[in-house]
Amino acid sequence: MDADRITEKLNILADAAKYDVSCASSGSKRKNENKGLGNASNGICHSYTEDGRCVSLLKILLTNHCIFDCAYCVSRKSNDIQRAAFTVQEVVDLTINFYRRNYIEGLFLSSGIFKDADFTMERLVRVAKKLRLEHNFHGYIHLKSIPGASDELMNEAGLYADRLSVNLEMPTEAGLKLLAPDKNHQDMIKPMGYLKNAIIQHTEEKKLFKKAPLFAPAGQSTQVIIGATPEDDNQILHSANYFYKNFKLRRVYYSGYVPVLEDSRLPALNTSVPMVRENRLYQADWLMRNYGFHVSEIVNNQQPHLDLDIDPKLSWAIRNMNEFPIDVNRADLKMILRVPGIGVLSAQKIVSARKFGKLNWENLKRMGVCINRAKYFVTCQSKEFERRDLTGNAIKQFILATSHSKYIKNVPTQLNLF
Ligand code: SF4
Repeated sequence: MDADRITEKLNILADAAKYDVSCASSGSKRKNENKGLGNASNGICHSYTEDGRCVSLLKILLTNHCIFDCAYCVSRKSNDIQRAAFTVQEVVDLTINFYRRNYIEGLFLSSGIFKDADFTMERLVRVAKKLRLEHNFHGYIHLKSIPGASDELMNEAGLYADRLSVNLEMPTEAGLKLLAPDKNHQDMIKPMGYLKNAIIQHTEEKKLFKKAPLFAPAGQSTQVIIGATPEDDNQILHSANYFYKNFKLRRVYYSGYVPVLEDSRLPALNTSVPMVRENRLYQADWLMRNYGFHVSEIVNNQQPHLDLDIDPKLSWAIRNMNEFPIDVNRADLKMILRVPGIGVLSAQKIVSARKFGKLNWENLKRMGVCINRAKYFVTCQSKEFERRDLTGNAIKQFILATSHSKYIKNVPTQLNLF
C-alpha cells in the first residue's frame, strides 16, 4: 500500500464525510463468539465533540466522485474539488489497521455515486462482507444505503452491517426537488420500506431460530439537513414523526446546514450554522421518542418554530401552566415525565420511592431532579418554593437568568481525525 497516497485519500475522503452526522453506534446486538476481532455488542463507546458529533468510528467516503449535482453537497459533480476513491481492499485494510491500533471501534462508510446506485452499493457491501467473512470482524459497521440500489444489495448489506441508513437529505419532497432535482424522493422511500420489512422478518425468524442470521441489528436511520431549505420546525418534526412511525427508524439525525457553496437557492456563505436549532430539534425528537409527547404538542400550525431560548419541554410546560403544579407524591408517571428538570430515570425513581414514604425536595435532589427547574412545576412534602403566583413568562425569565447554554457561543468547527 502506498502510504502517502492512502494518507492523501484519507484526508480527502474523511473531510468529505464530516458533513454526515448520522453515525451514532448504539443499539447493536452483534456478539463476538469466535475469538474474532472487535465487539459491537458492548464496549463500543462513542465520544462526542462539543457540538454532539460522534468520533469513535472511522468515518469516510468510499469516493467523493459523484454523478449527481445536489446543491447542498460539497461532493456535487459541478464543484471544483480534489477527488479520490478508495478501493474496497483499501477500506478493509484501513479499518483493520485502525481497529488494531485502538483508534476506532468501527466503520461508518458512505459514498458519492460512482456510476449508478447498484455499482456503488455493491462496493460498499463488499467492504462489509470482507470485514465480516475474511477478517472475522465483529466491530460496528454503519453503511450508507445508496438510494435506488436493488433489493438484493440492500438485503446483503443488512446481513453484514449493524446499521443502515438512507439519507432523506431534505425534510420534505419539495425541498429535495428544489436543491436536488435529479434525485427522486421515491428512491429513498423504497429502500427504507424494504429495510423495515426485512428487519421485522429477521427479528421474527430470530425468535424462532436462534441461529438465524442477524439483519441490521442496530436498525435503520436517516439524516435531514436543517436550514438549507425554508421548512419550519413543524414540518421537520412532523416529517420525522412520519418516518419513525411508518419505517420504524431508530433515529432521525438533524444536521445544521454548513454553507460551503455559492448557489442562489441556498443560504449565503456567511450564514451561520443553525447549531442551536439543531440542538432544539434533537431535544424535541427525544421528547417524542422517550417522554410520551405527541409531535403536535411540541410544534403545530400555531407554534411552528421551536423556542431557541429554552428547551422544548420547558417551552411546552410554560404554555400549559394549567397542568401545573403537580404533586410528585401522587401524579402518574406520564405527567411526572412532563415536568422540566425531571428525566426518565428520575421519574421512575420517584414512582418507585414514593411507595415507601412521602418525598421532599432533598429526596428529589438525590434522585437527580434538577430542582432549579422542577420547583416551579411540582409540589412535594415541603412548603419550600411554595410560590404559585408566577406566570409562564416570569418562570422563563427566572430560569434563563440562572442558566447558560453551551450551544450559544459554540463555533461549529469540523473535526479532523487524521
Ligand atoms: S448524491 Fe450524495 S454525494 Fe452525490 S451530490 Fe448528492 S448528496 Fe452529494
